[in-house]
Amino acid sequence: MGGVFAAMYFLLLPSQLNSYTYTADQIALIRKNNMVYDFVRAGKSTLMSTALNNDAKNIERTDLYLVRDTDLPENVDYEHLYTVMSTLSEKGYDNEQVMKLIKSATLDELQILLDSPLPVNMDVLYTALDKKFPVVQAYQLSNMDRDLSSLIMNDGTDYSTTVKLNNMGYSVEDIKALNKLGNTELNMVTVMKYLADLPALVSNESFDMKLLPRYIMAIENEGYEVEDAIVYVNDNEDYIDVEDIDMYGLYSDDFRTENPGSYTALVNKNHYLNADYAPTDLTEFSHEEMRNDVATALGSLFTALNEQKFETIIVDVGYVSYSEQEELFNRYLEMFEDDEEKALERTPYAGYSEHQTGLAVDFYVRGANFEDYEGYQWMLDNIHNYGFILRYPAGKEFLTGFPSEPKHFRFVGVEAAKIMHDYEWTLEEYKTIFE
Ligand code: ZN
Repeated sequence: MGGVFAAMYFLLLPSQLNSYTYTADQIALIRKNNMVYDFVRAGKSTLMSTALNNDAKNIERTDLYLVRDTDLPENVDYEHLYTVMSTLSEKGYDNEQVMKLIKSATLDELQILLDSPLPVNMDVLYTALDKKFPVVQAYQLSNMDRDLSSLIMNDGTDYSTTVKLNNMGYSVEDIKALNKLGNTELNMVTVMKYLADLPALVSNESFDMKLLPRYIMAIENEGYEVEDAIVYVNDNEDYIDVEDIDMYGLYSDDFRTENPGSYTALVNKNHYLNADYAPTDLTEFSHEEMRNDVATALGSLFTALNEQKFETIIVDVGYVSYSEQEELFNRYLEMFEDDEEKALERTPYAGYSEHQTGLAVDFYVRGANFEDYEGYQWMLDNIHNYGFILRYPAGKEFLTGFPSEPKHFRFVGVEAAKIMHDYEWTLEEYKTIFE
């Protein structure tokens, strides 16, 4: 029994105890163990009584229940409190520990401790509770690698972000390095792929988040070391002028598109869709077929354009099936007398057009090239809020593998579109670092 508590004990006469409705057996136990406490005297005997009734054979544990009333939650359910205390005690928490737990959390909060084995690092549990971590987090901290728990408790790093990063595969040292990023970017890292080189990249003074996908491409595709990749990309040495890109030679069947139904599905010159892929939620909007969410988003976009008093635009091309694309390509092939390169300048091979996803749209406005549309700049500045990106921007041809195409937009969902807009990432760059 702790000294602090011992000092508060004093003996009461059996007649006084009797007036609080203790039985003779209970009174004998109480007296034998000097277990009288001021809340008993004050008539707050419910807990003591509950304890003695339930647990008289284990009298040495009864001192657990001598908790000052003021430390207990209001309207505490004594039966429940008794159960929680005795369960904790049976699990192996010692009496002093139980007292501490009871005082630092509500009974409901303590449930996780009742349902789980003893923490690996008991001291961490109490340190975390002292630092006001919720019981669930304190318990999880007490089962973590000590370096990780101390990073969270002492360096003030965000609990859930740190845990997520660690679960992704980042070590404590990695996380310390990643903490150089601001909270927003650190949160973004938690939804990215695990990038083994990211901590080293971030540690470099010349690191620029906007260039991250290109650093990763330089490392993974071209074999650069981290330091060299940063110099290489920062100096724009990975850039290829549009005239020097072999638009035809880029076609390959290296990768089949993963998750073609995903809003961020990648279809390009080396990621192709199977002939039998077709979205299952096609709907009609502006006389074109497209996936349902694309139509909804376009509805909002068109309303906004209308509110801005811009001229009405229409969807020129929406969903294009594999067989329609095949026909289109063959028509060009015929037109150019079987010159594939010439045909490919006009339209991709079947399977290589992202119009087959039902997520791509070509816009049309009467009497102008689409880039000359009066609302074009407004669209570039705002269209991410509707879940769209300009899919083939000028100057990014070396990344997309397609010539600039001002009228072709791609739905990727609002969250991804905002990220791509903020960091000026093409879908190819986005997919380098996101699933
Ligand atoms: Zn298009």
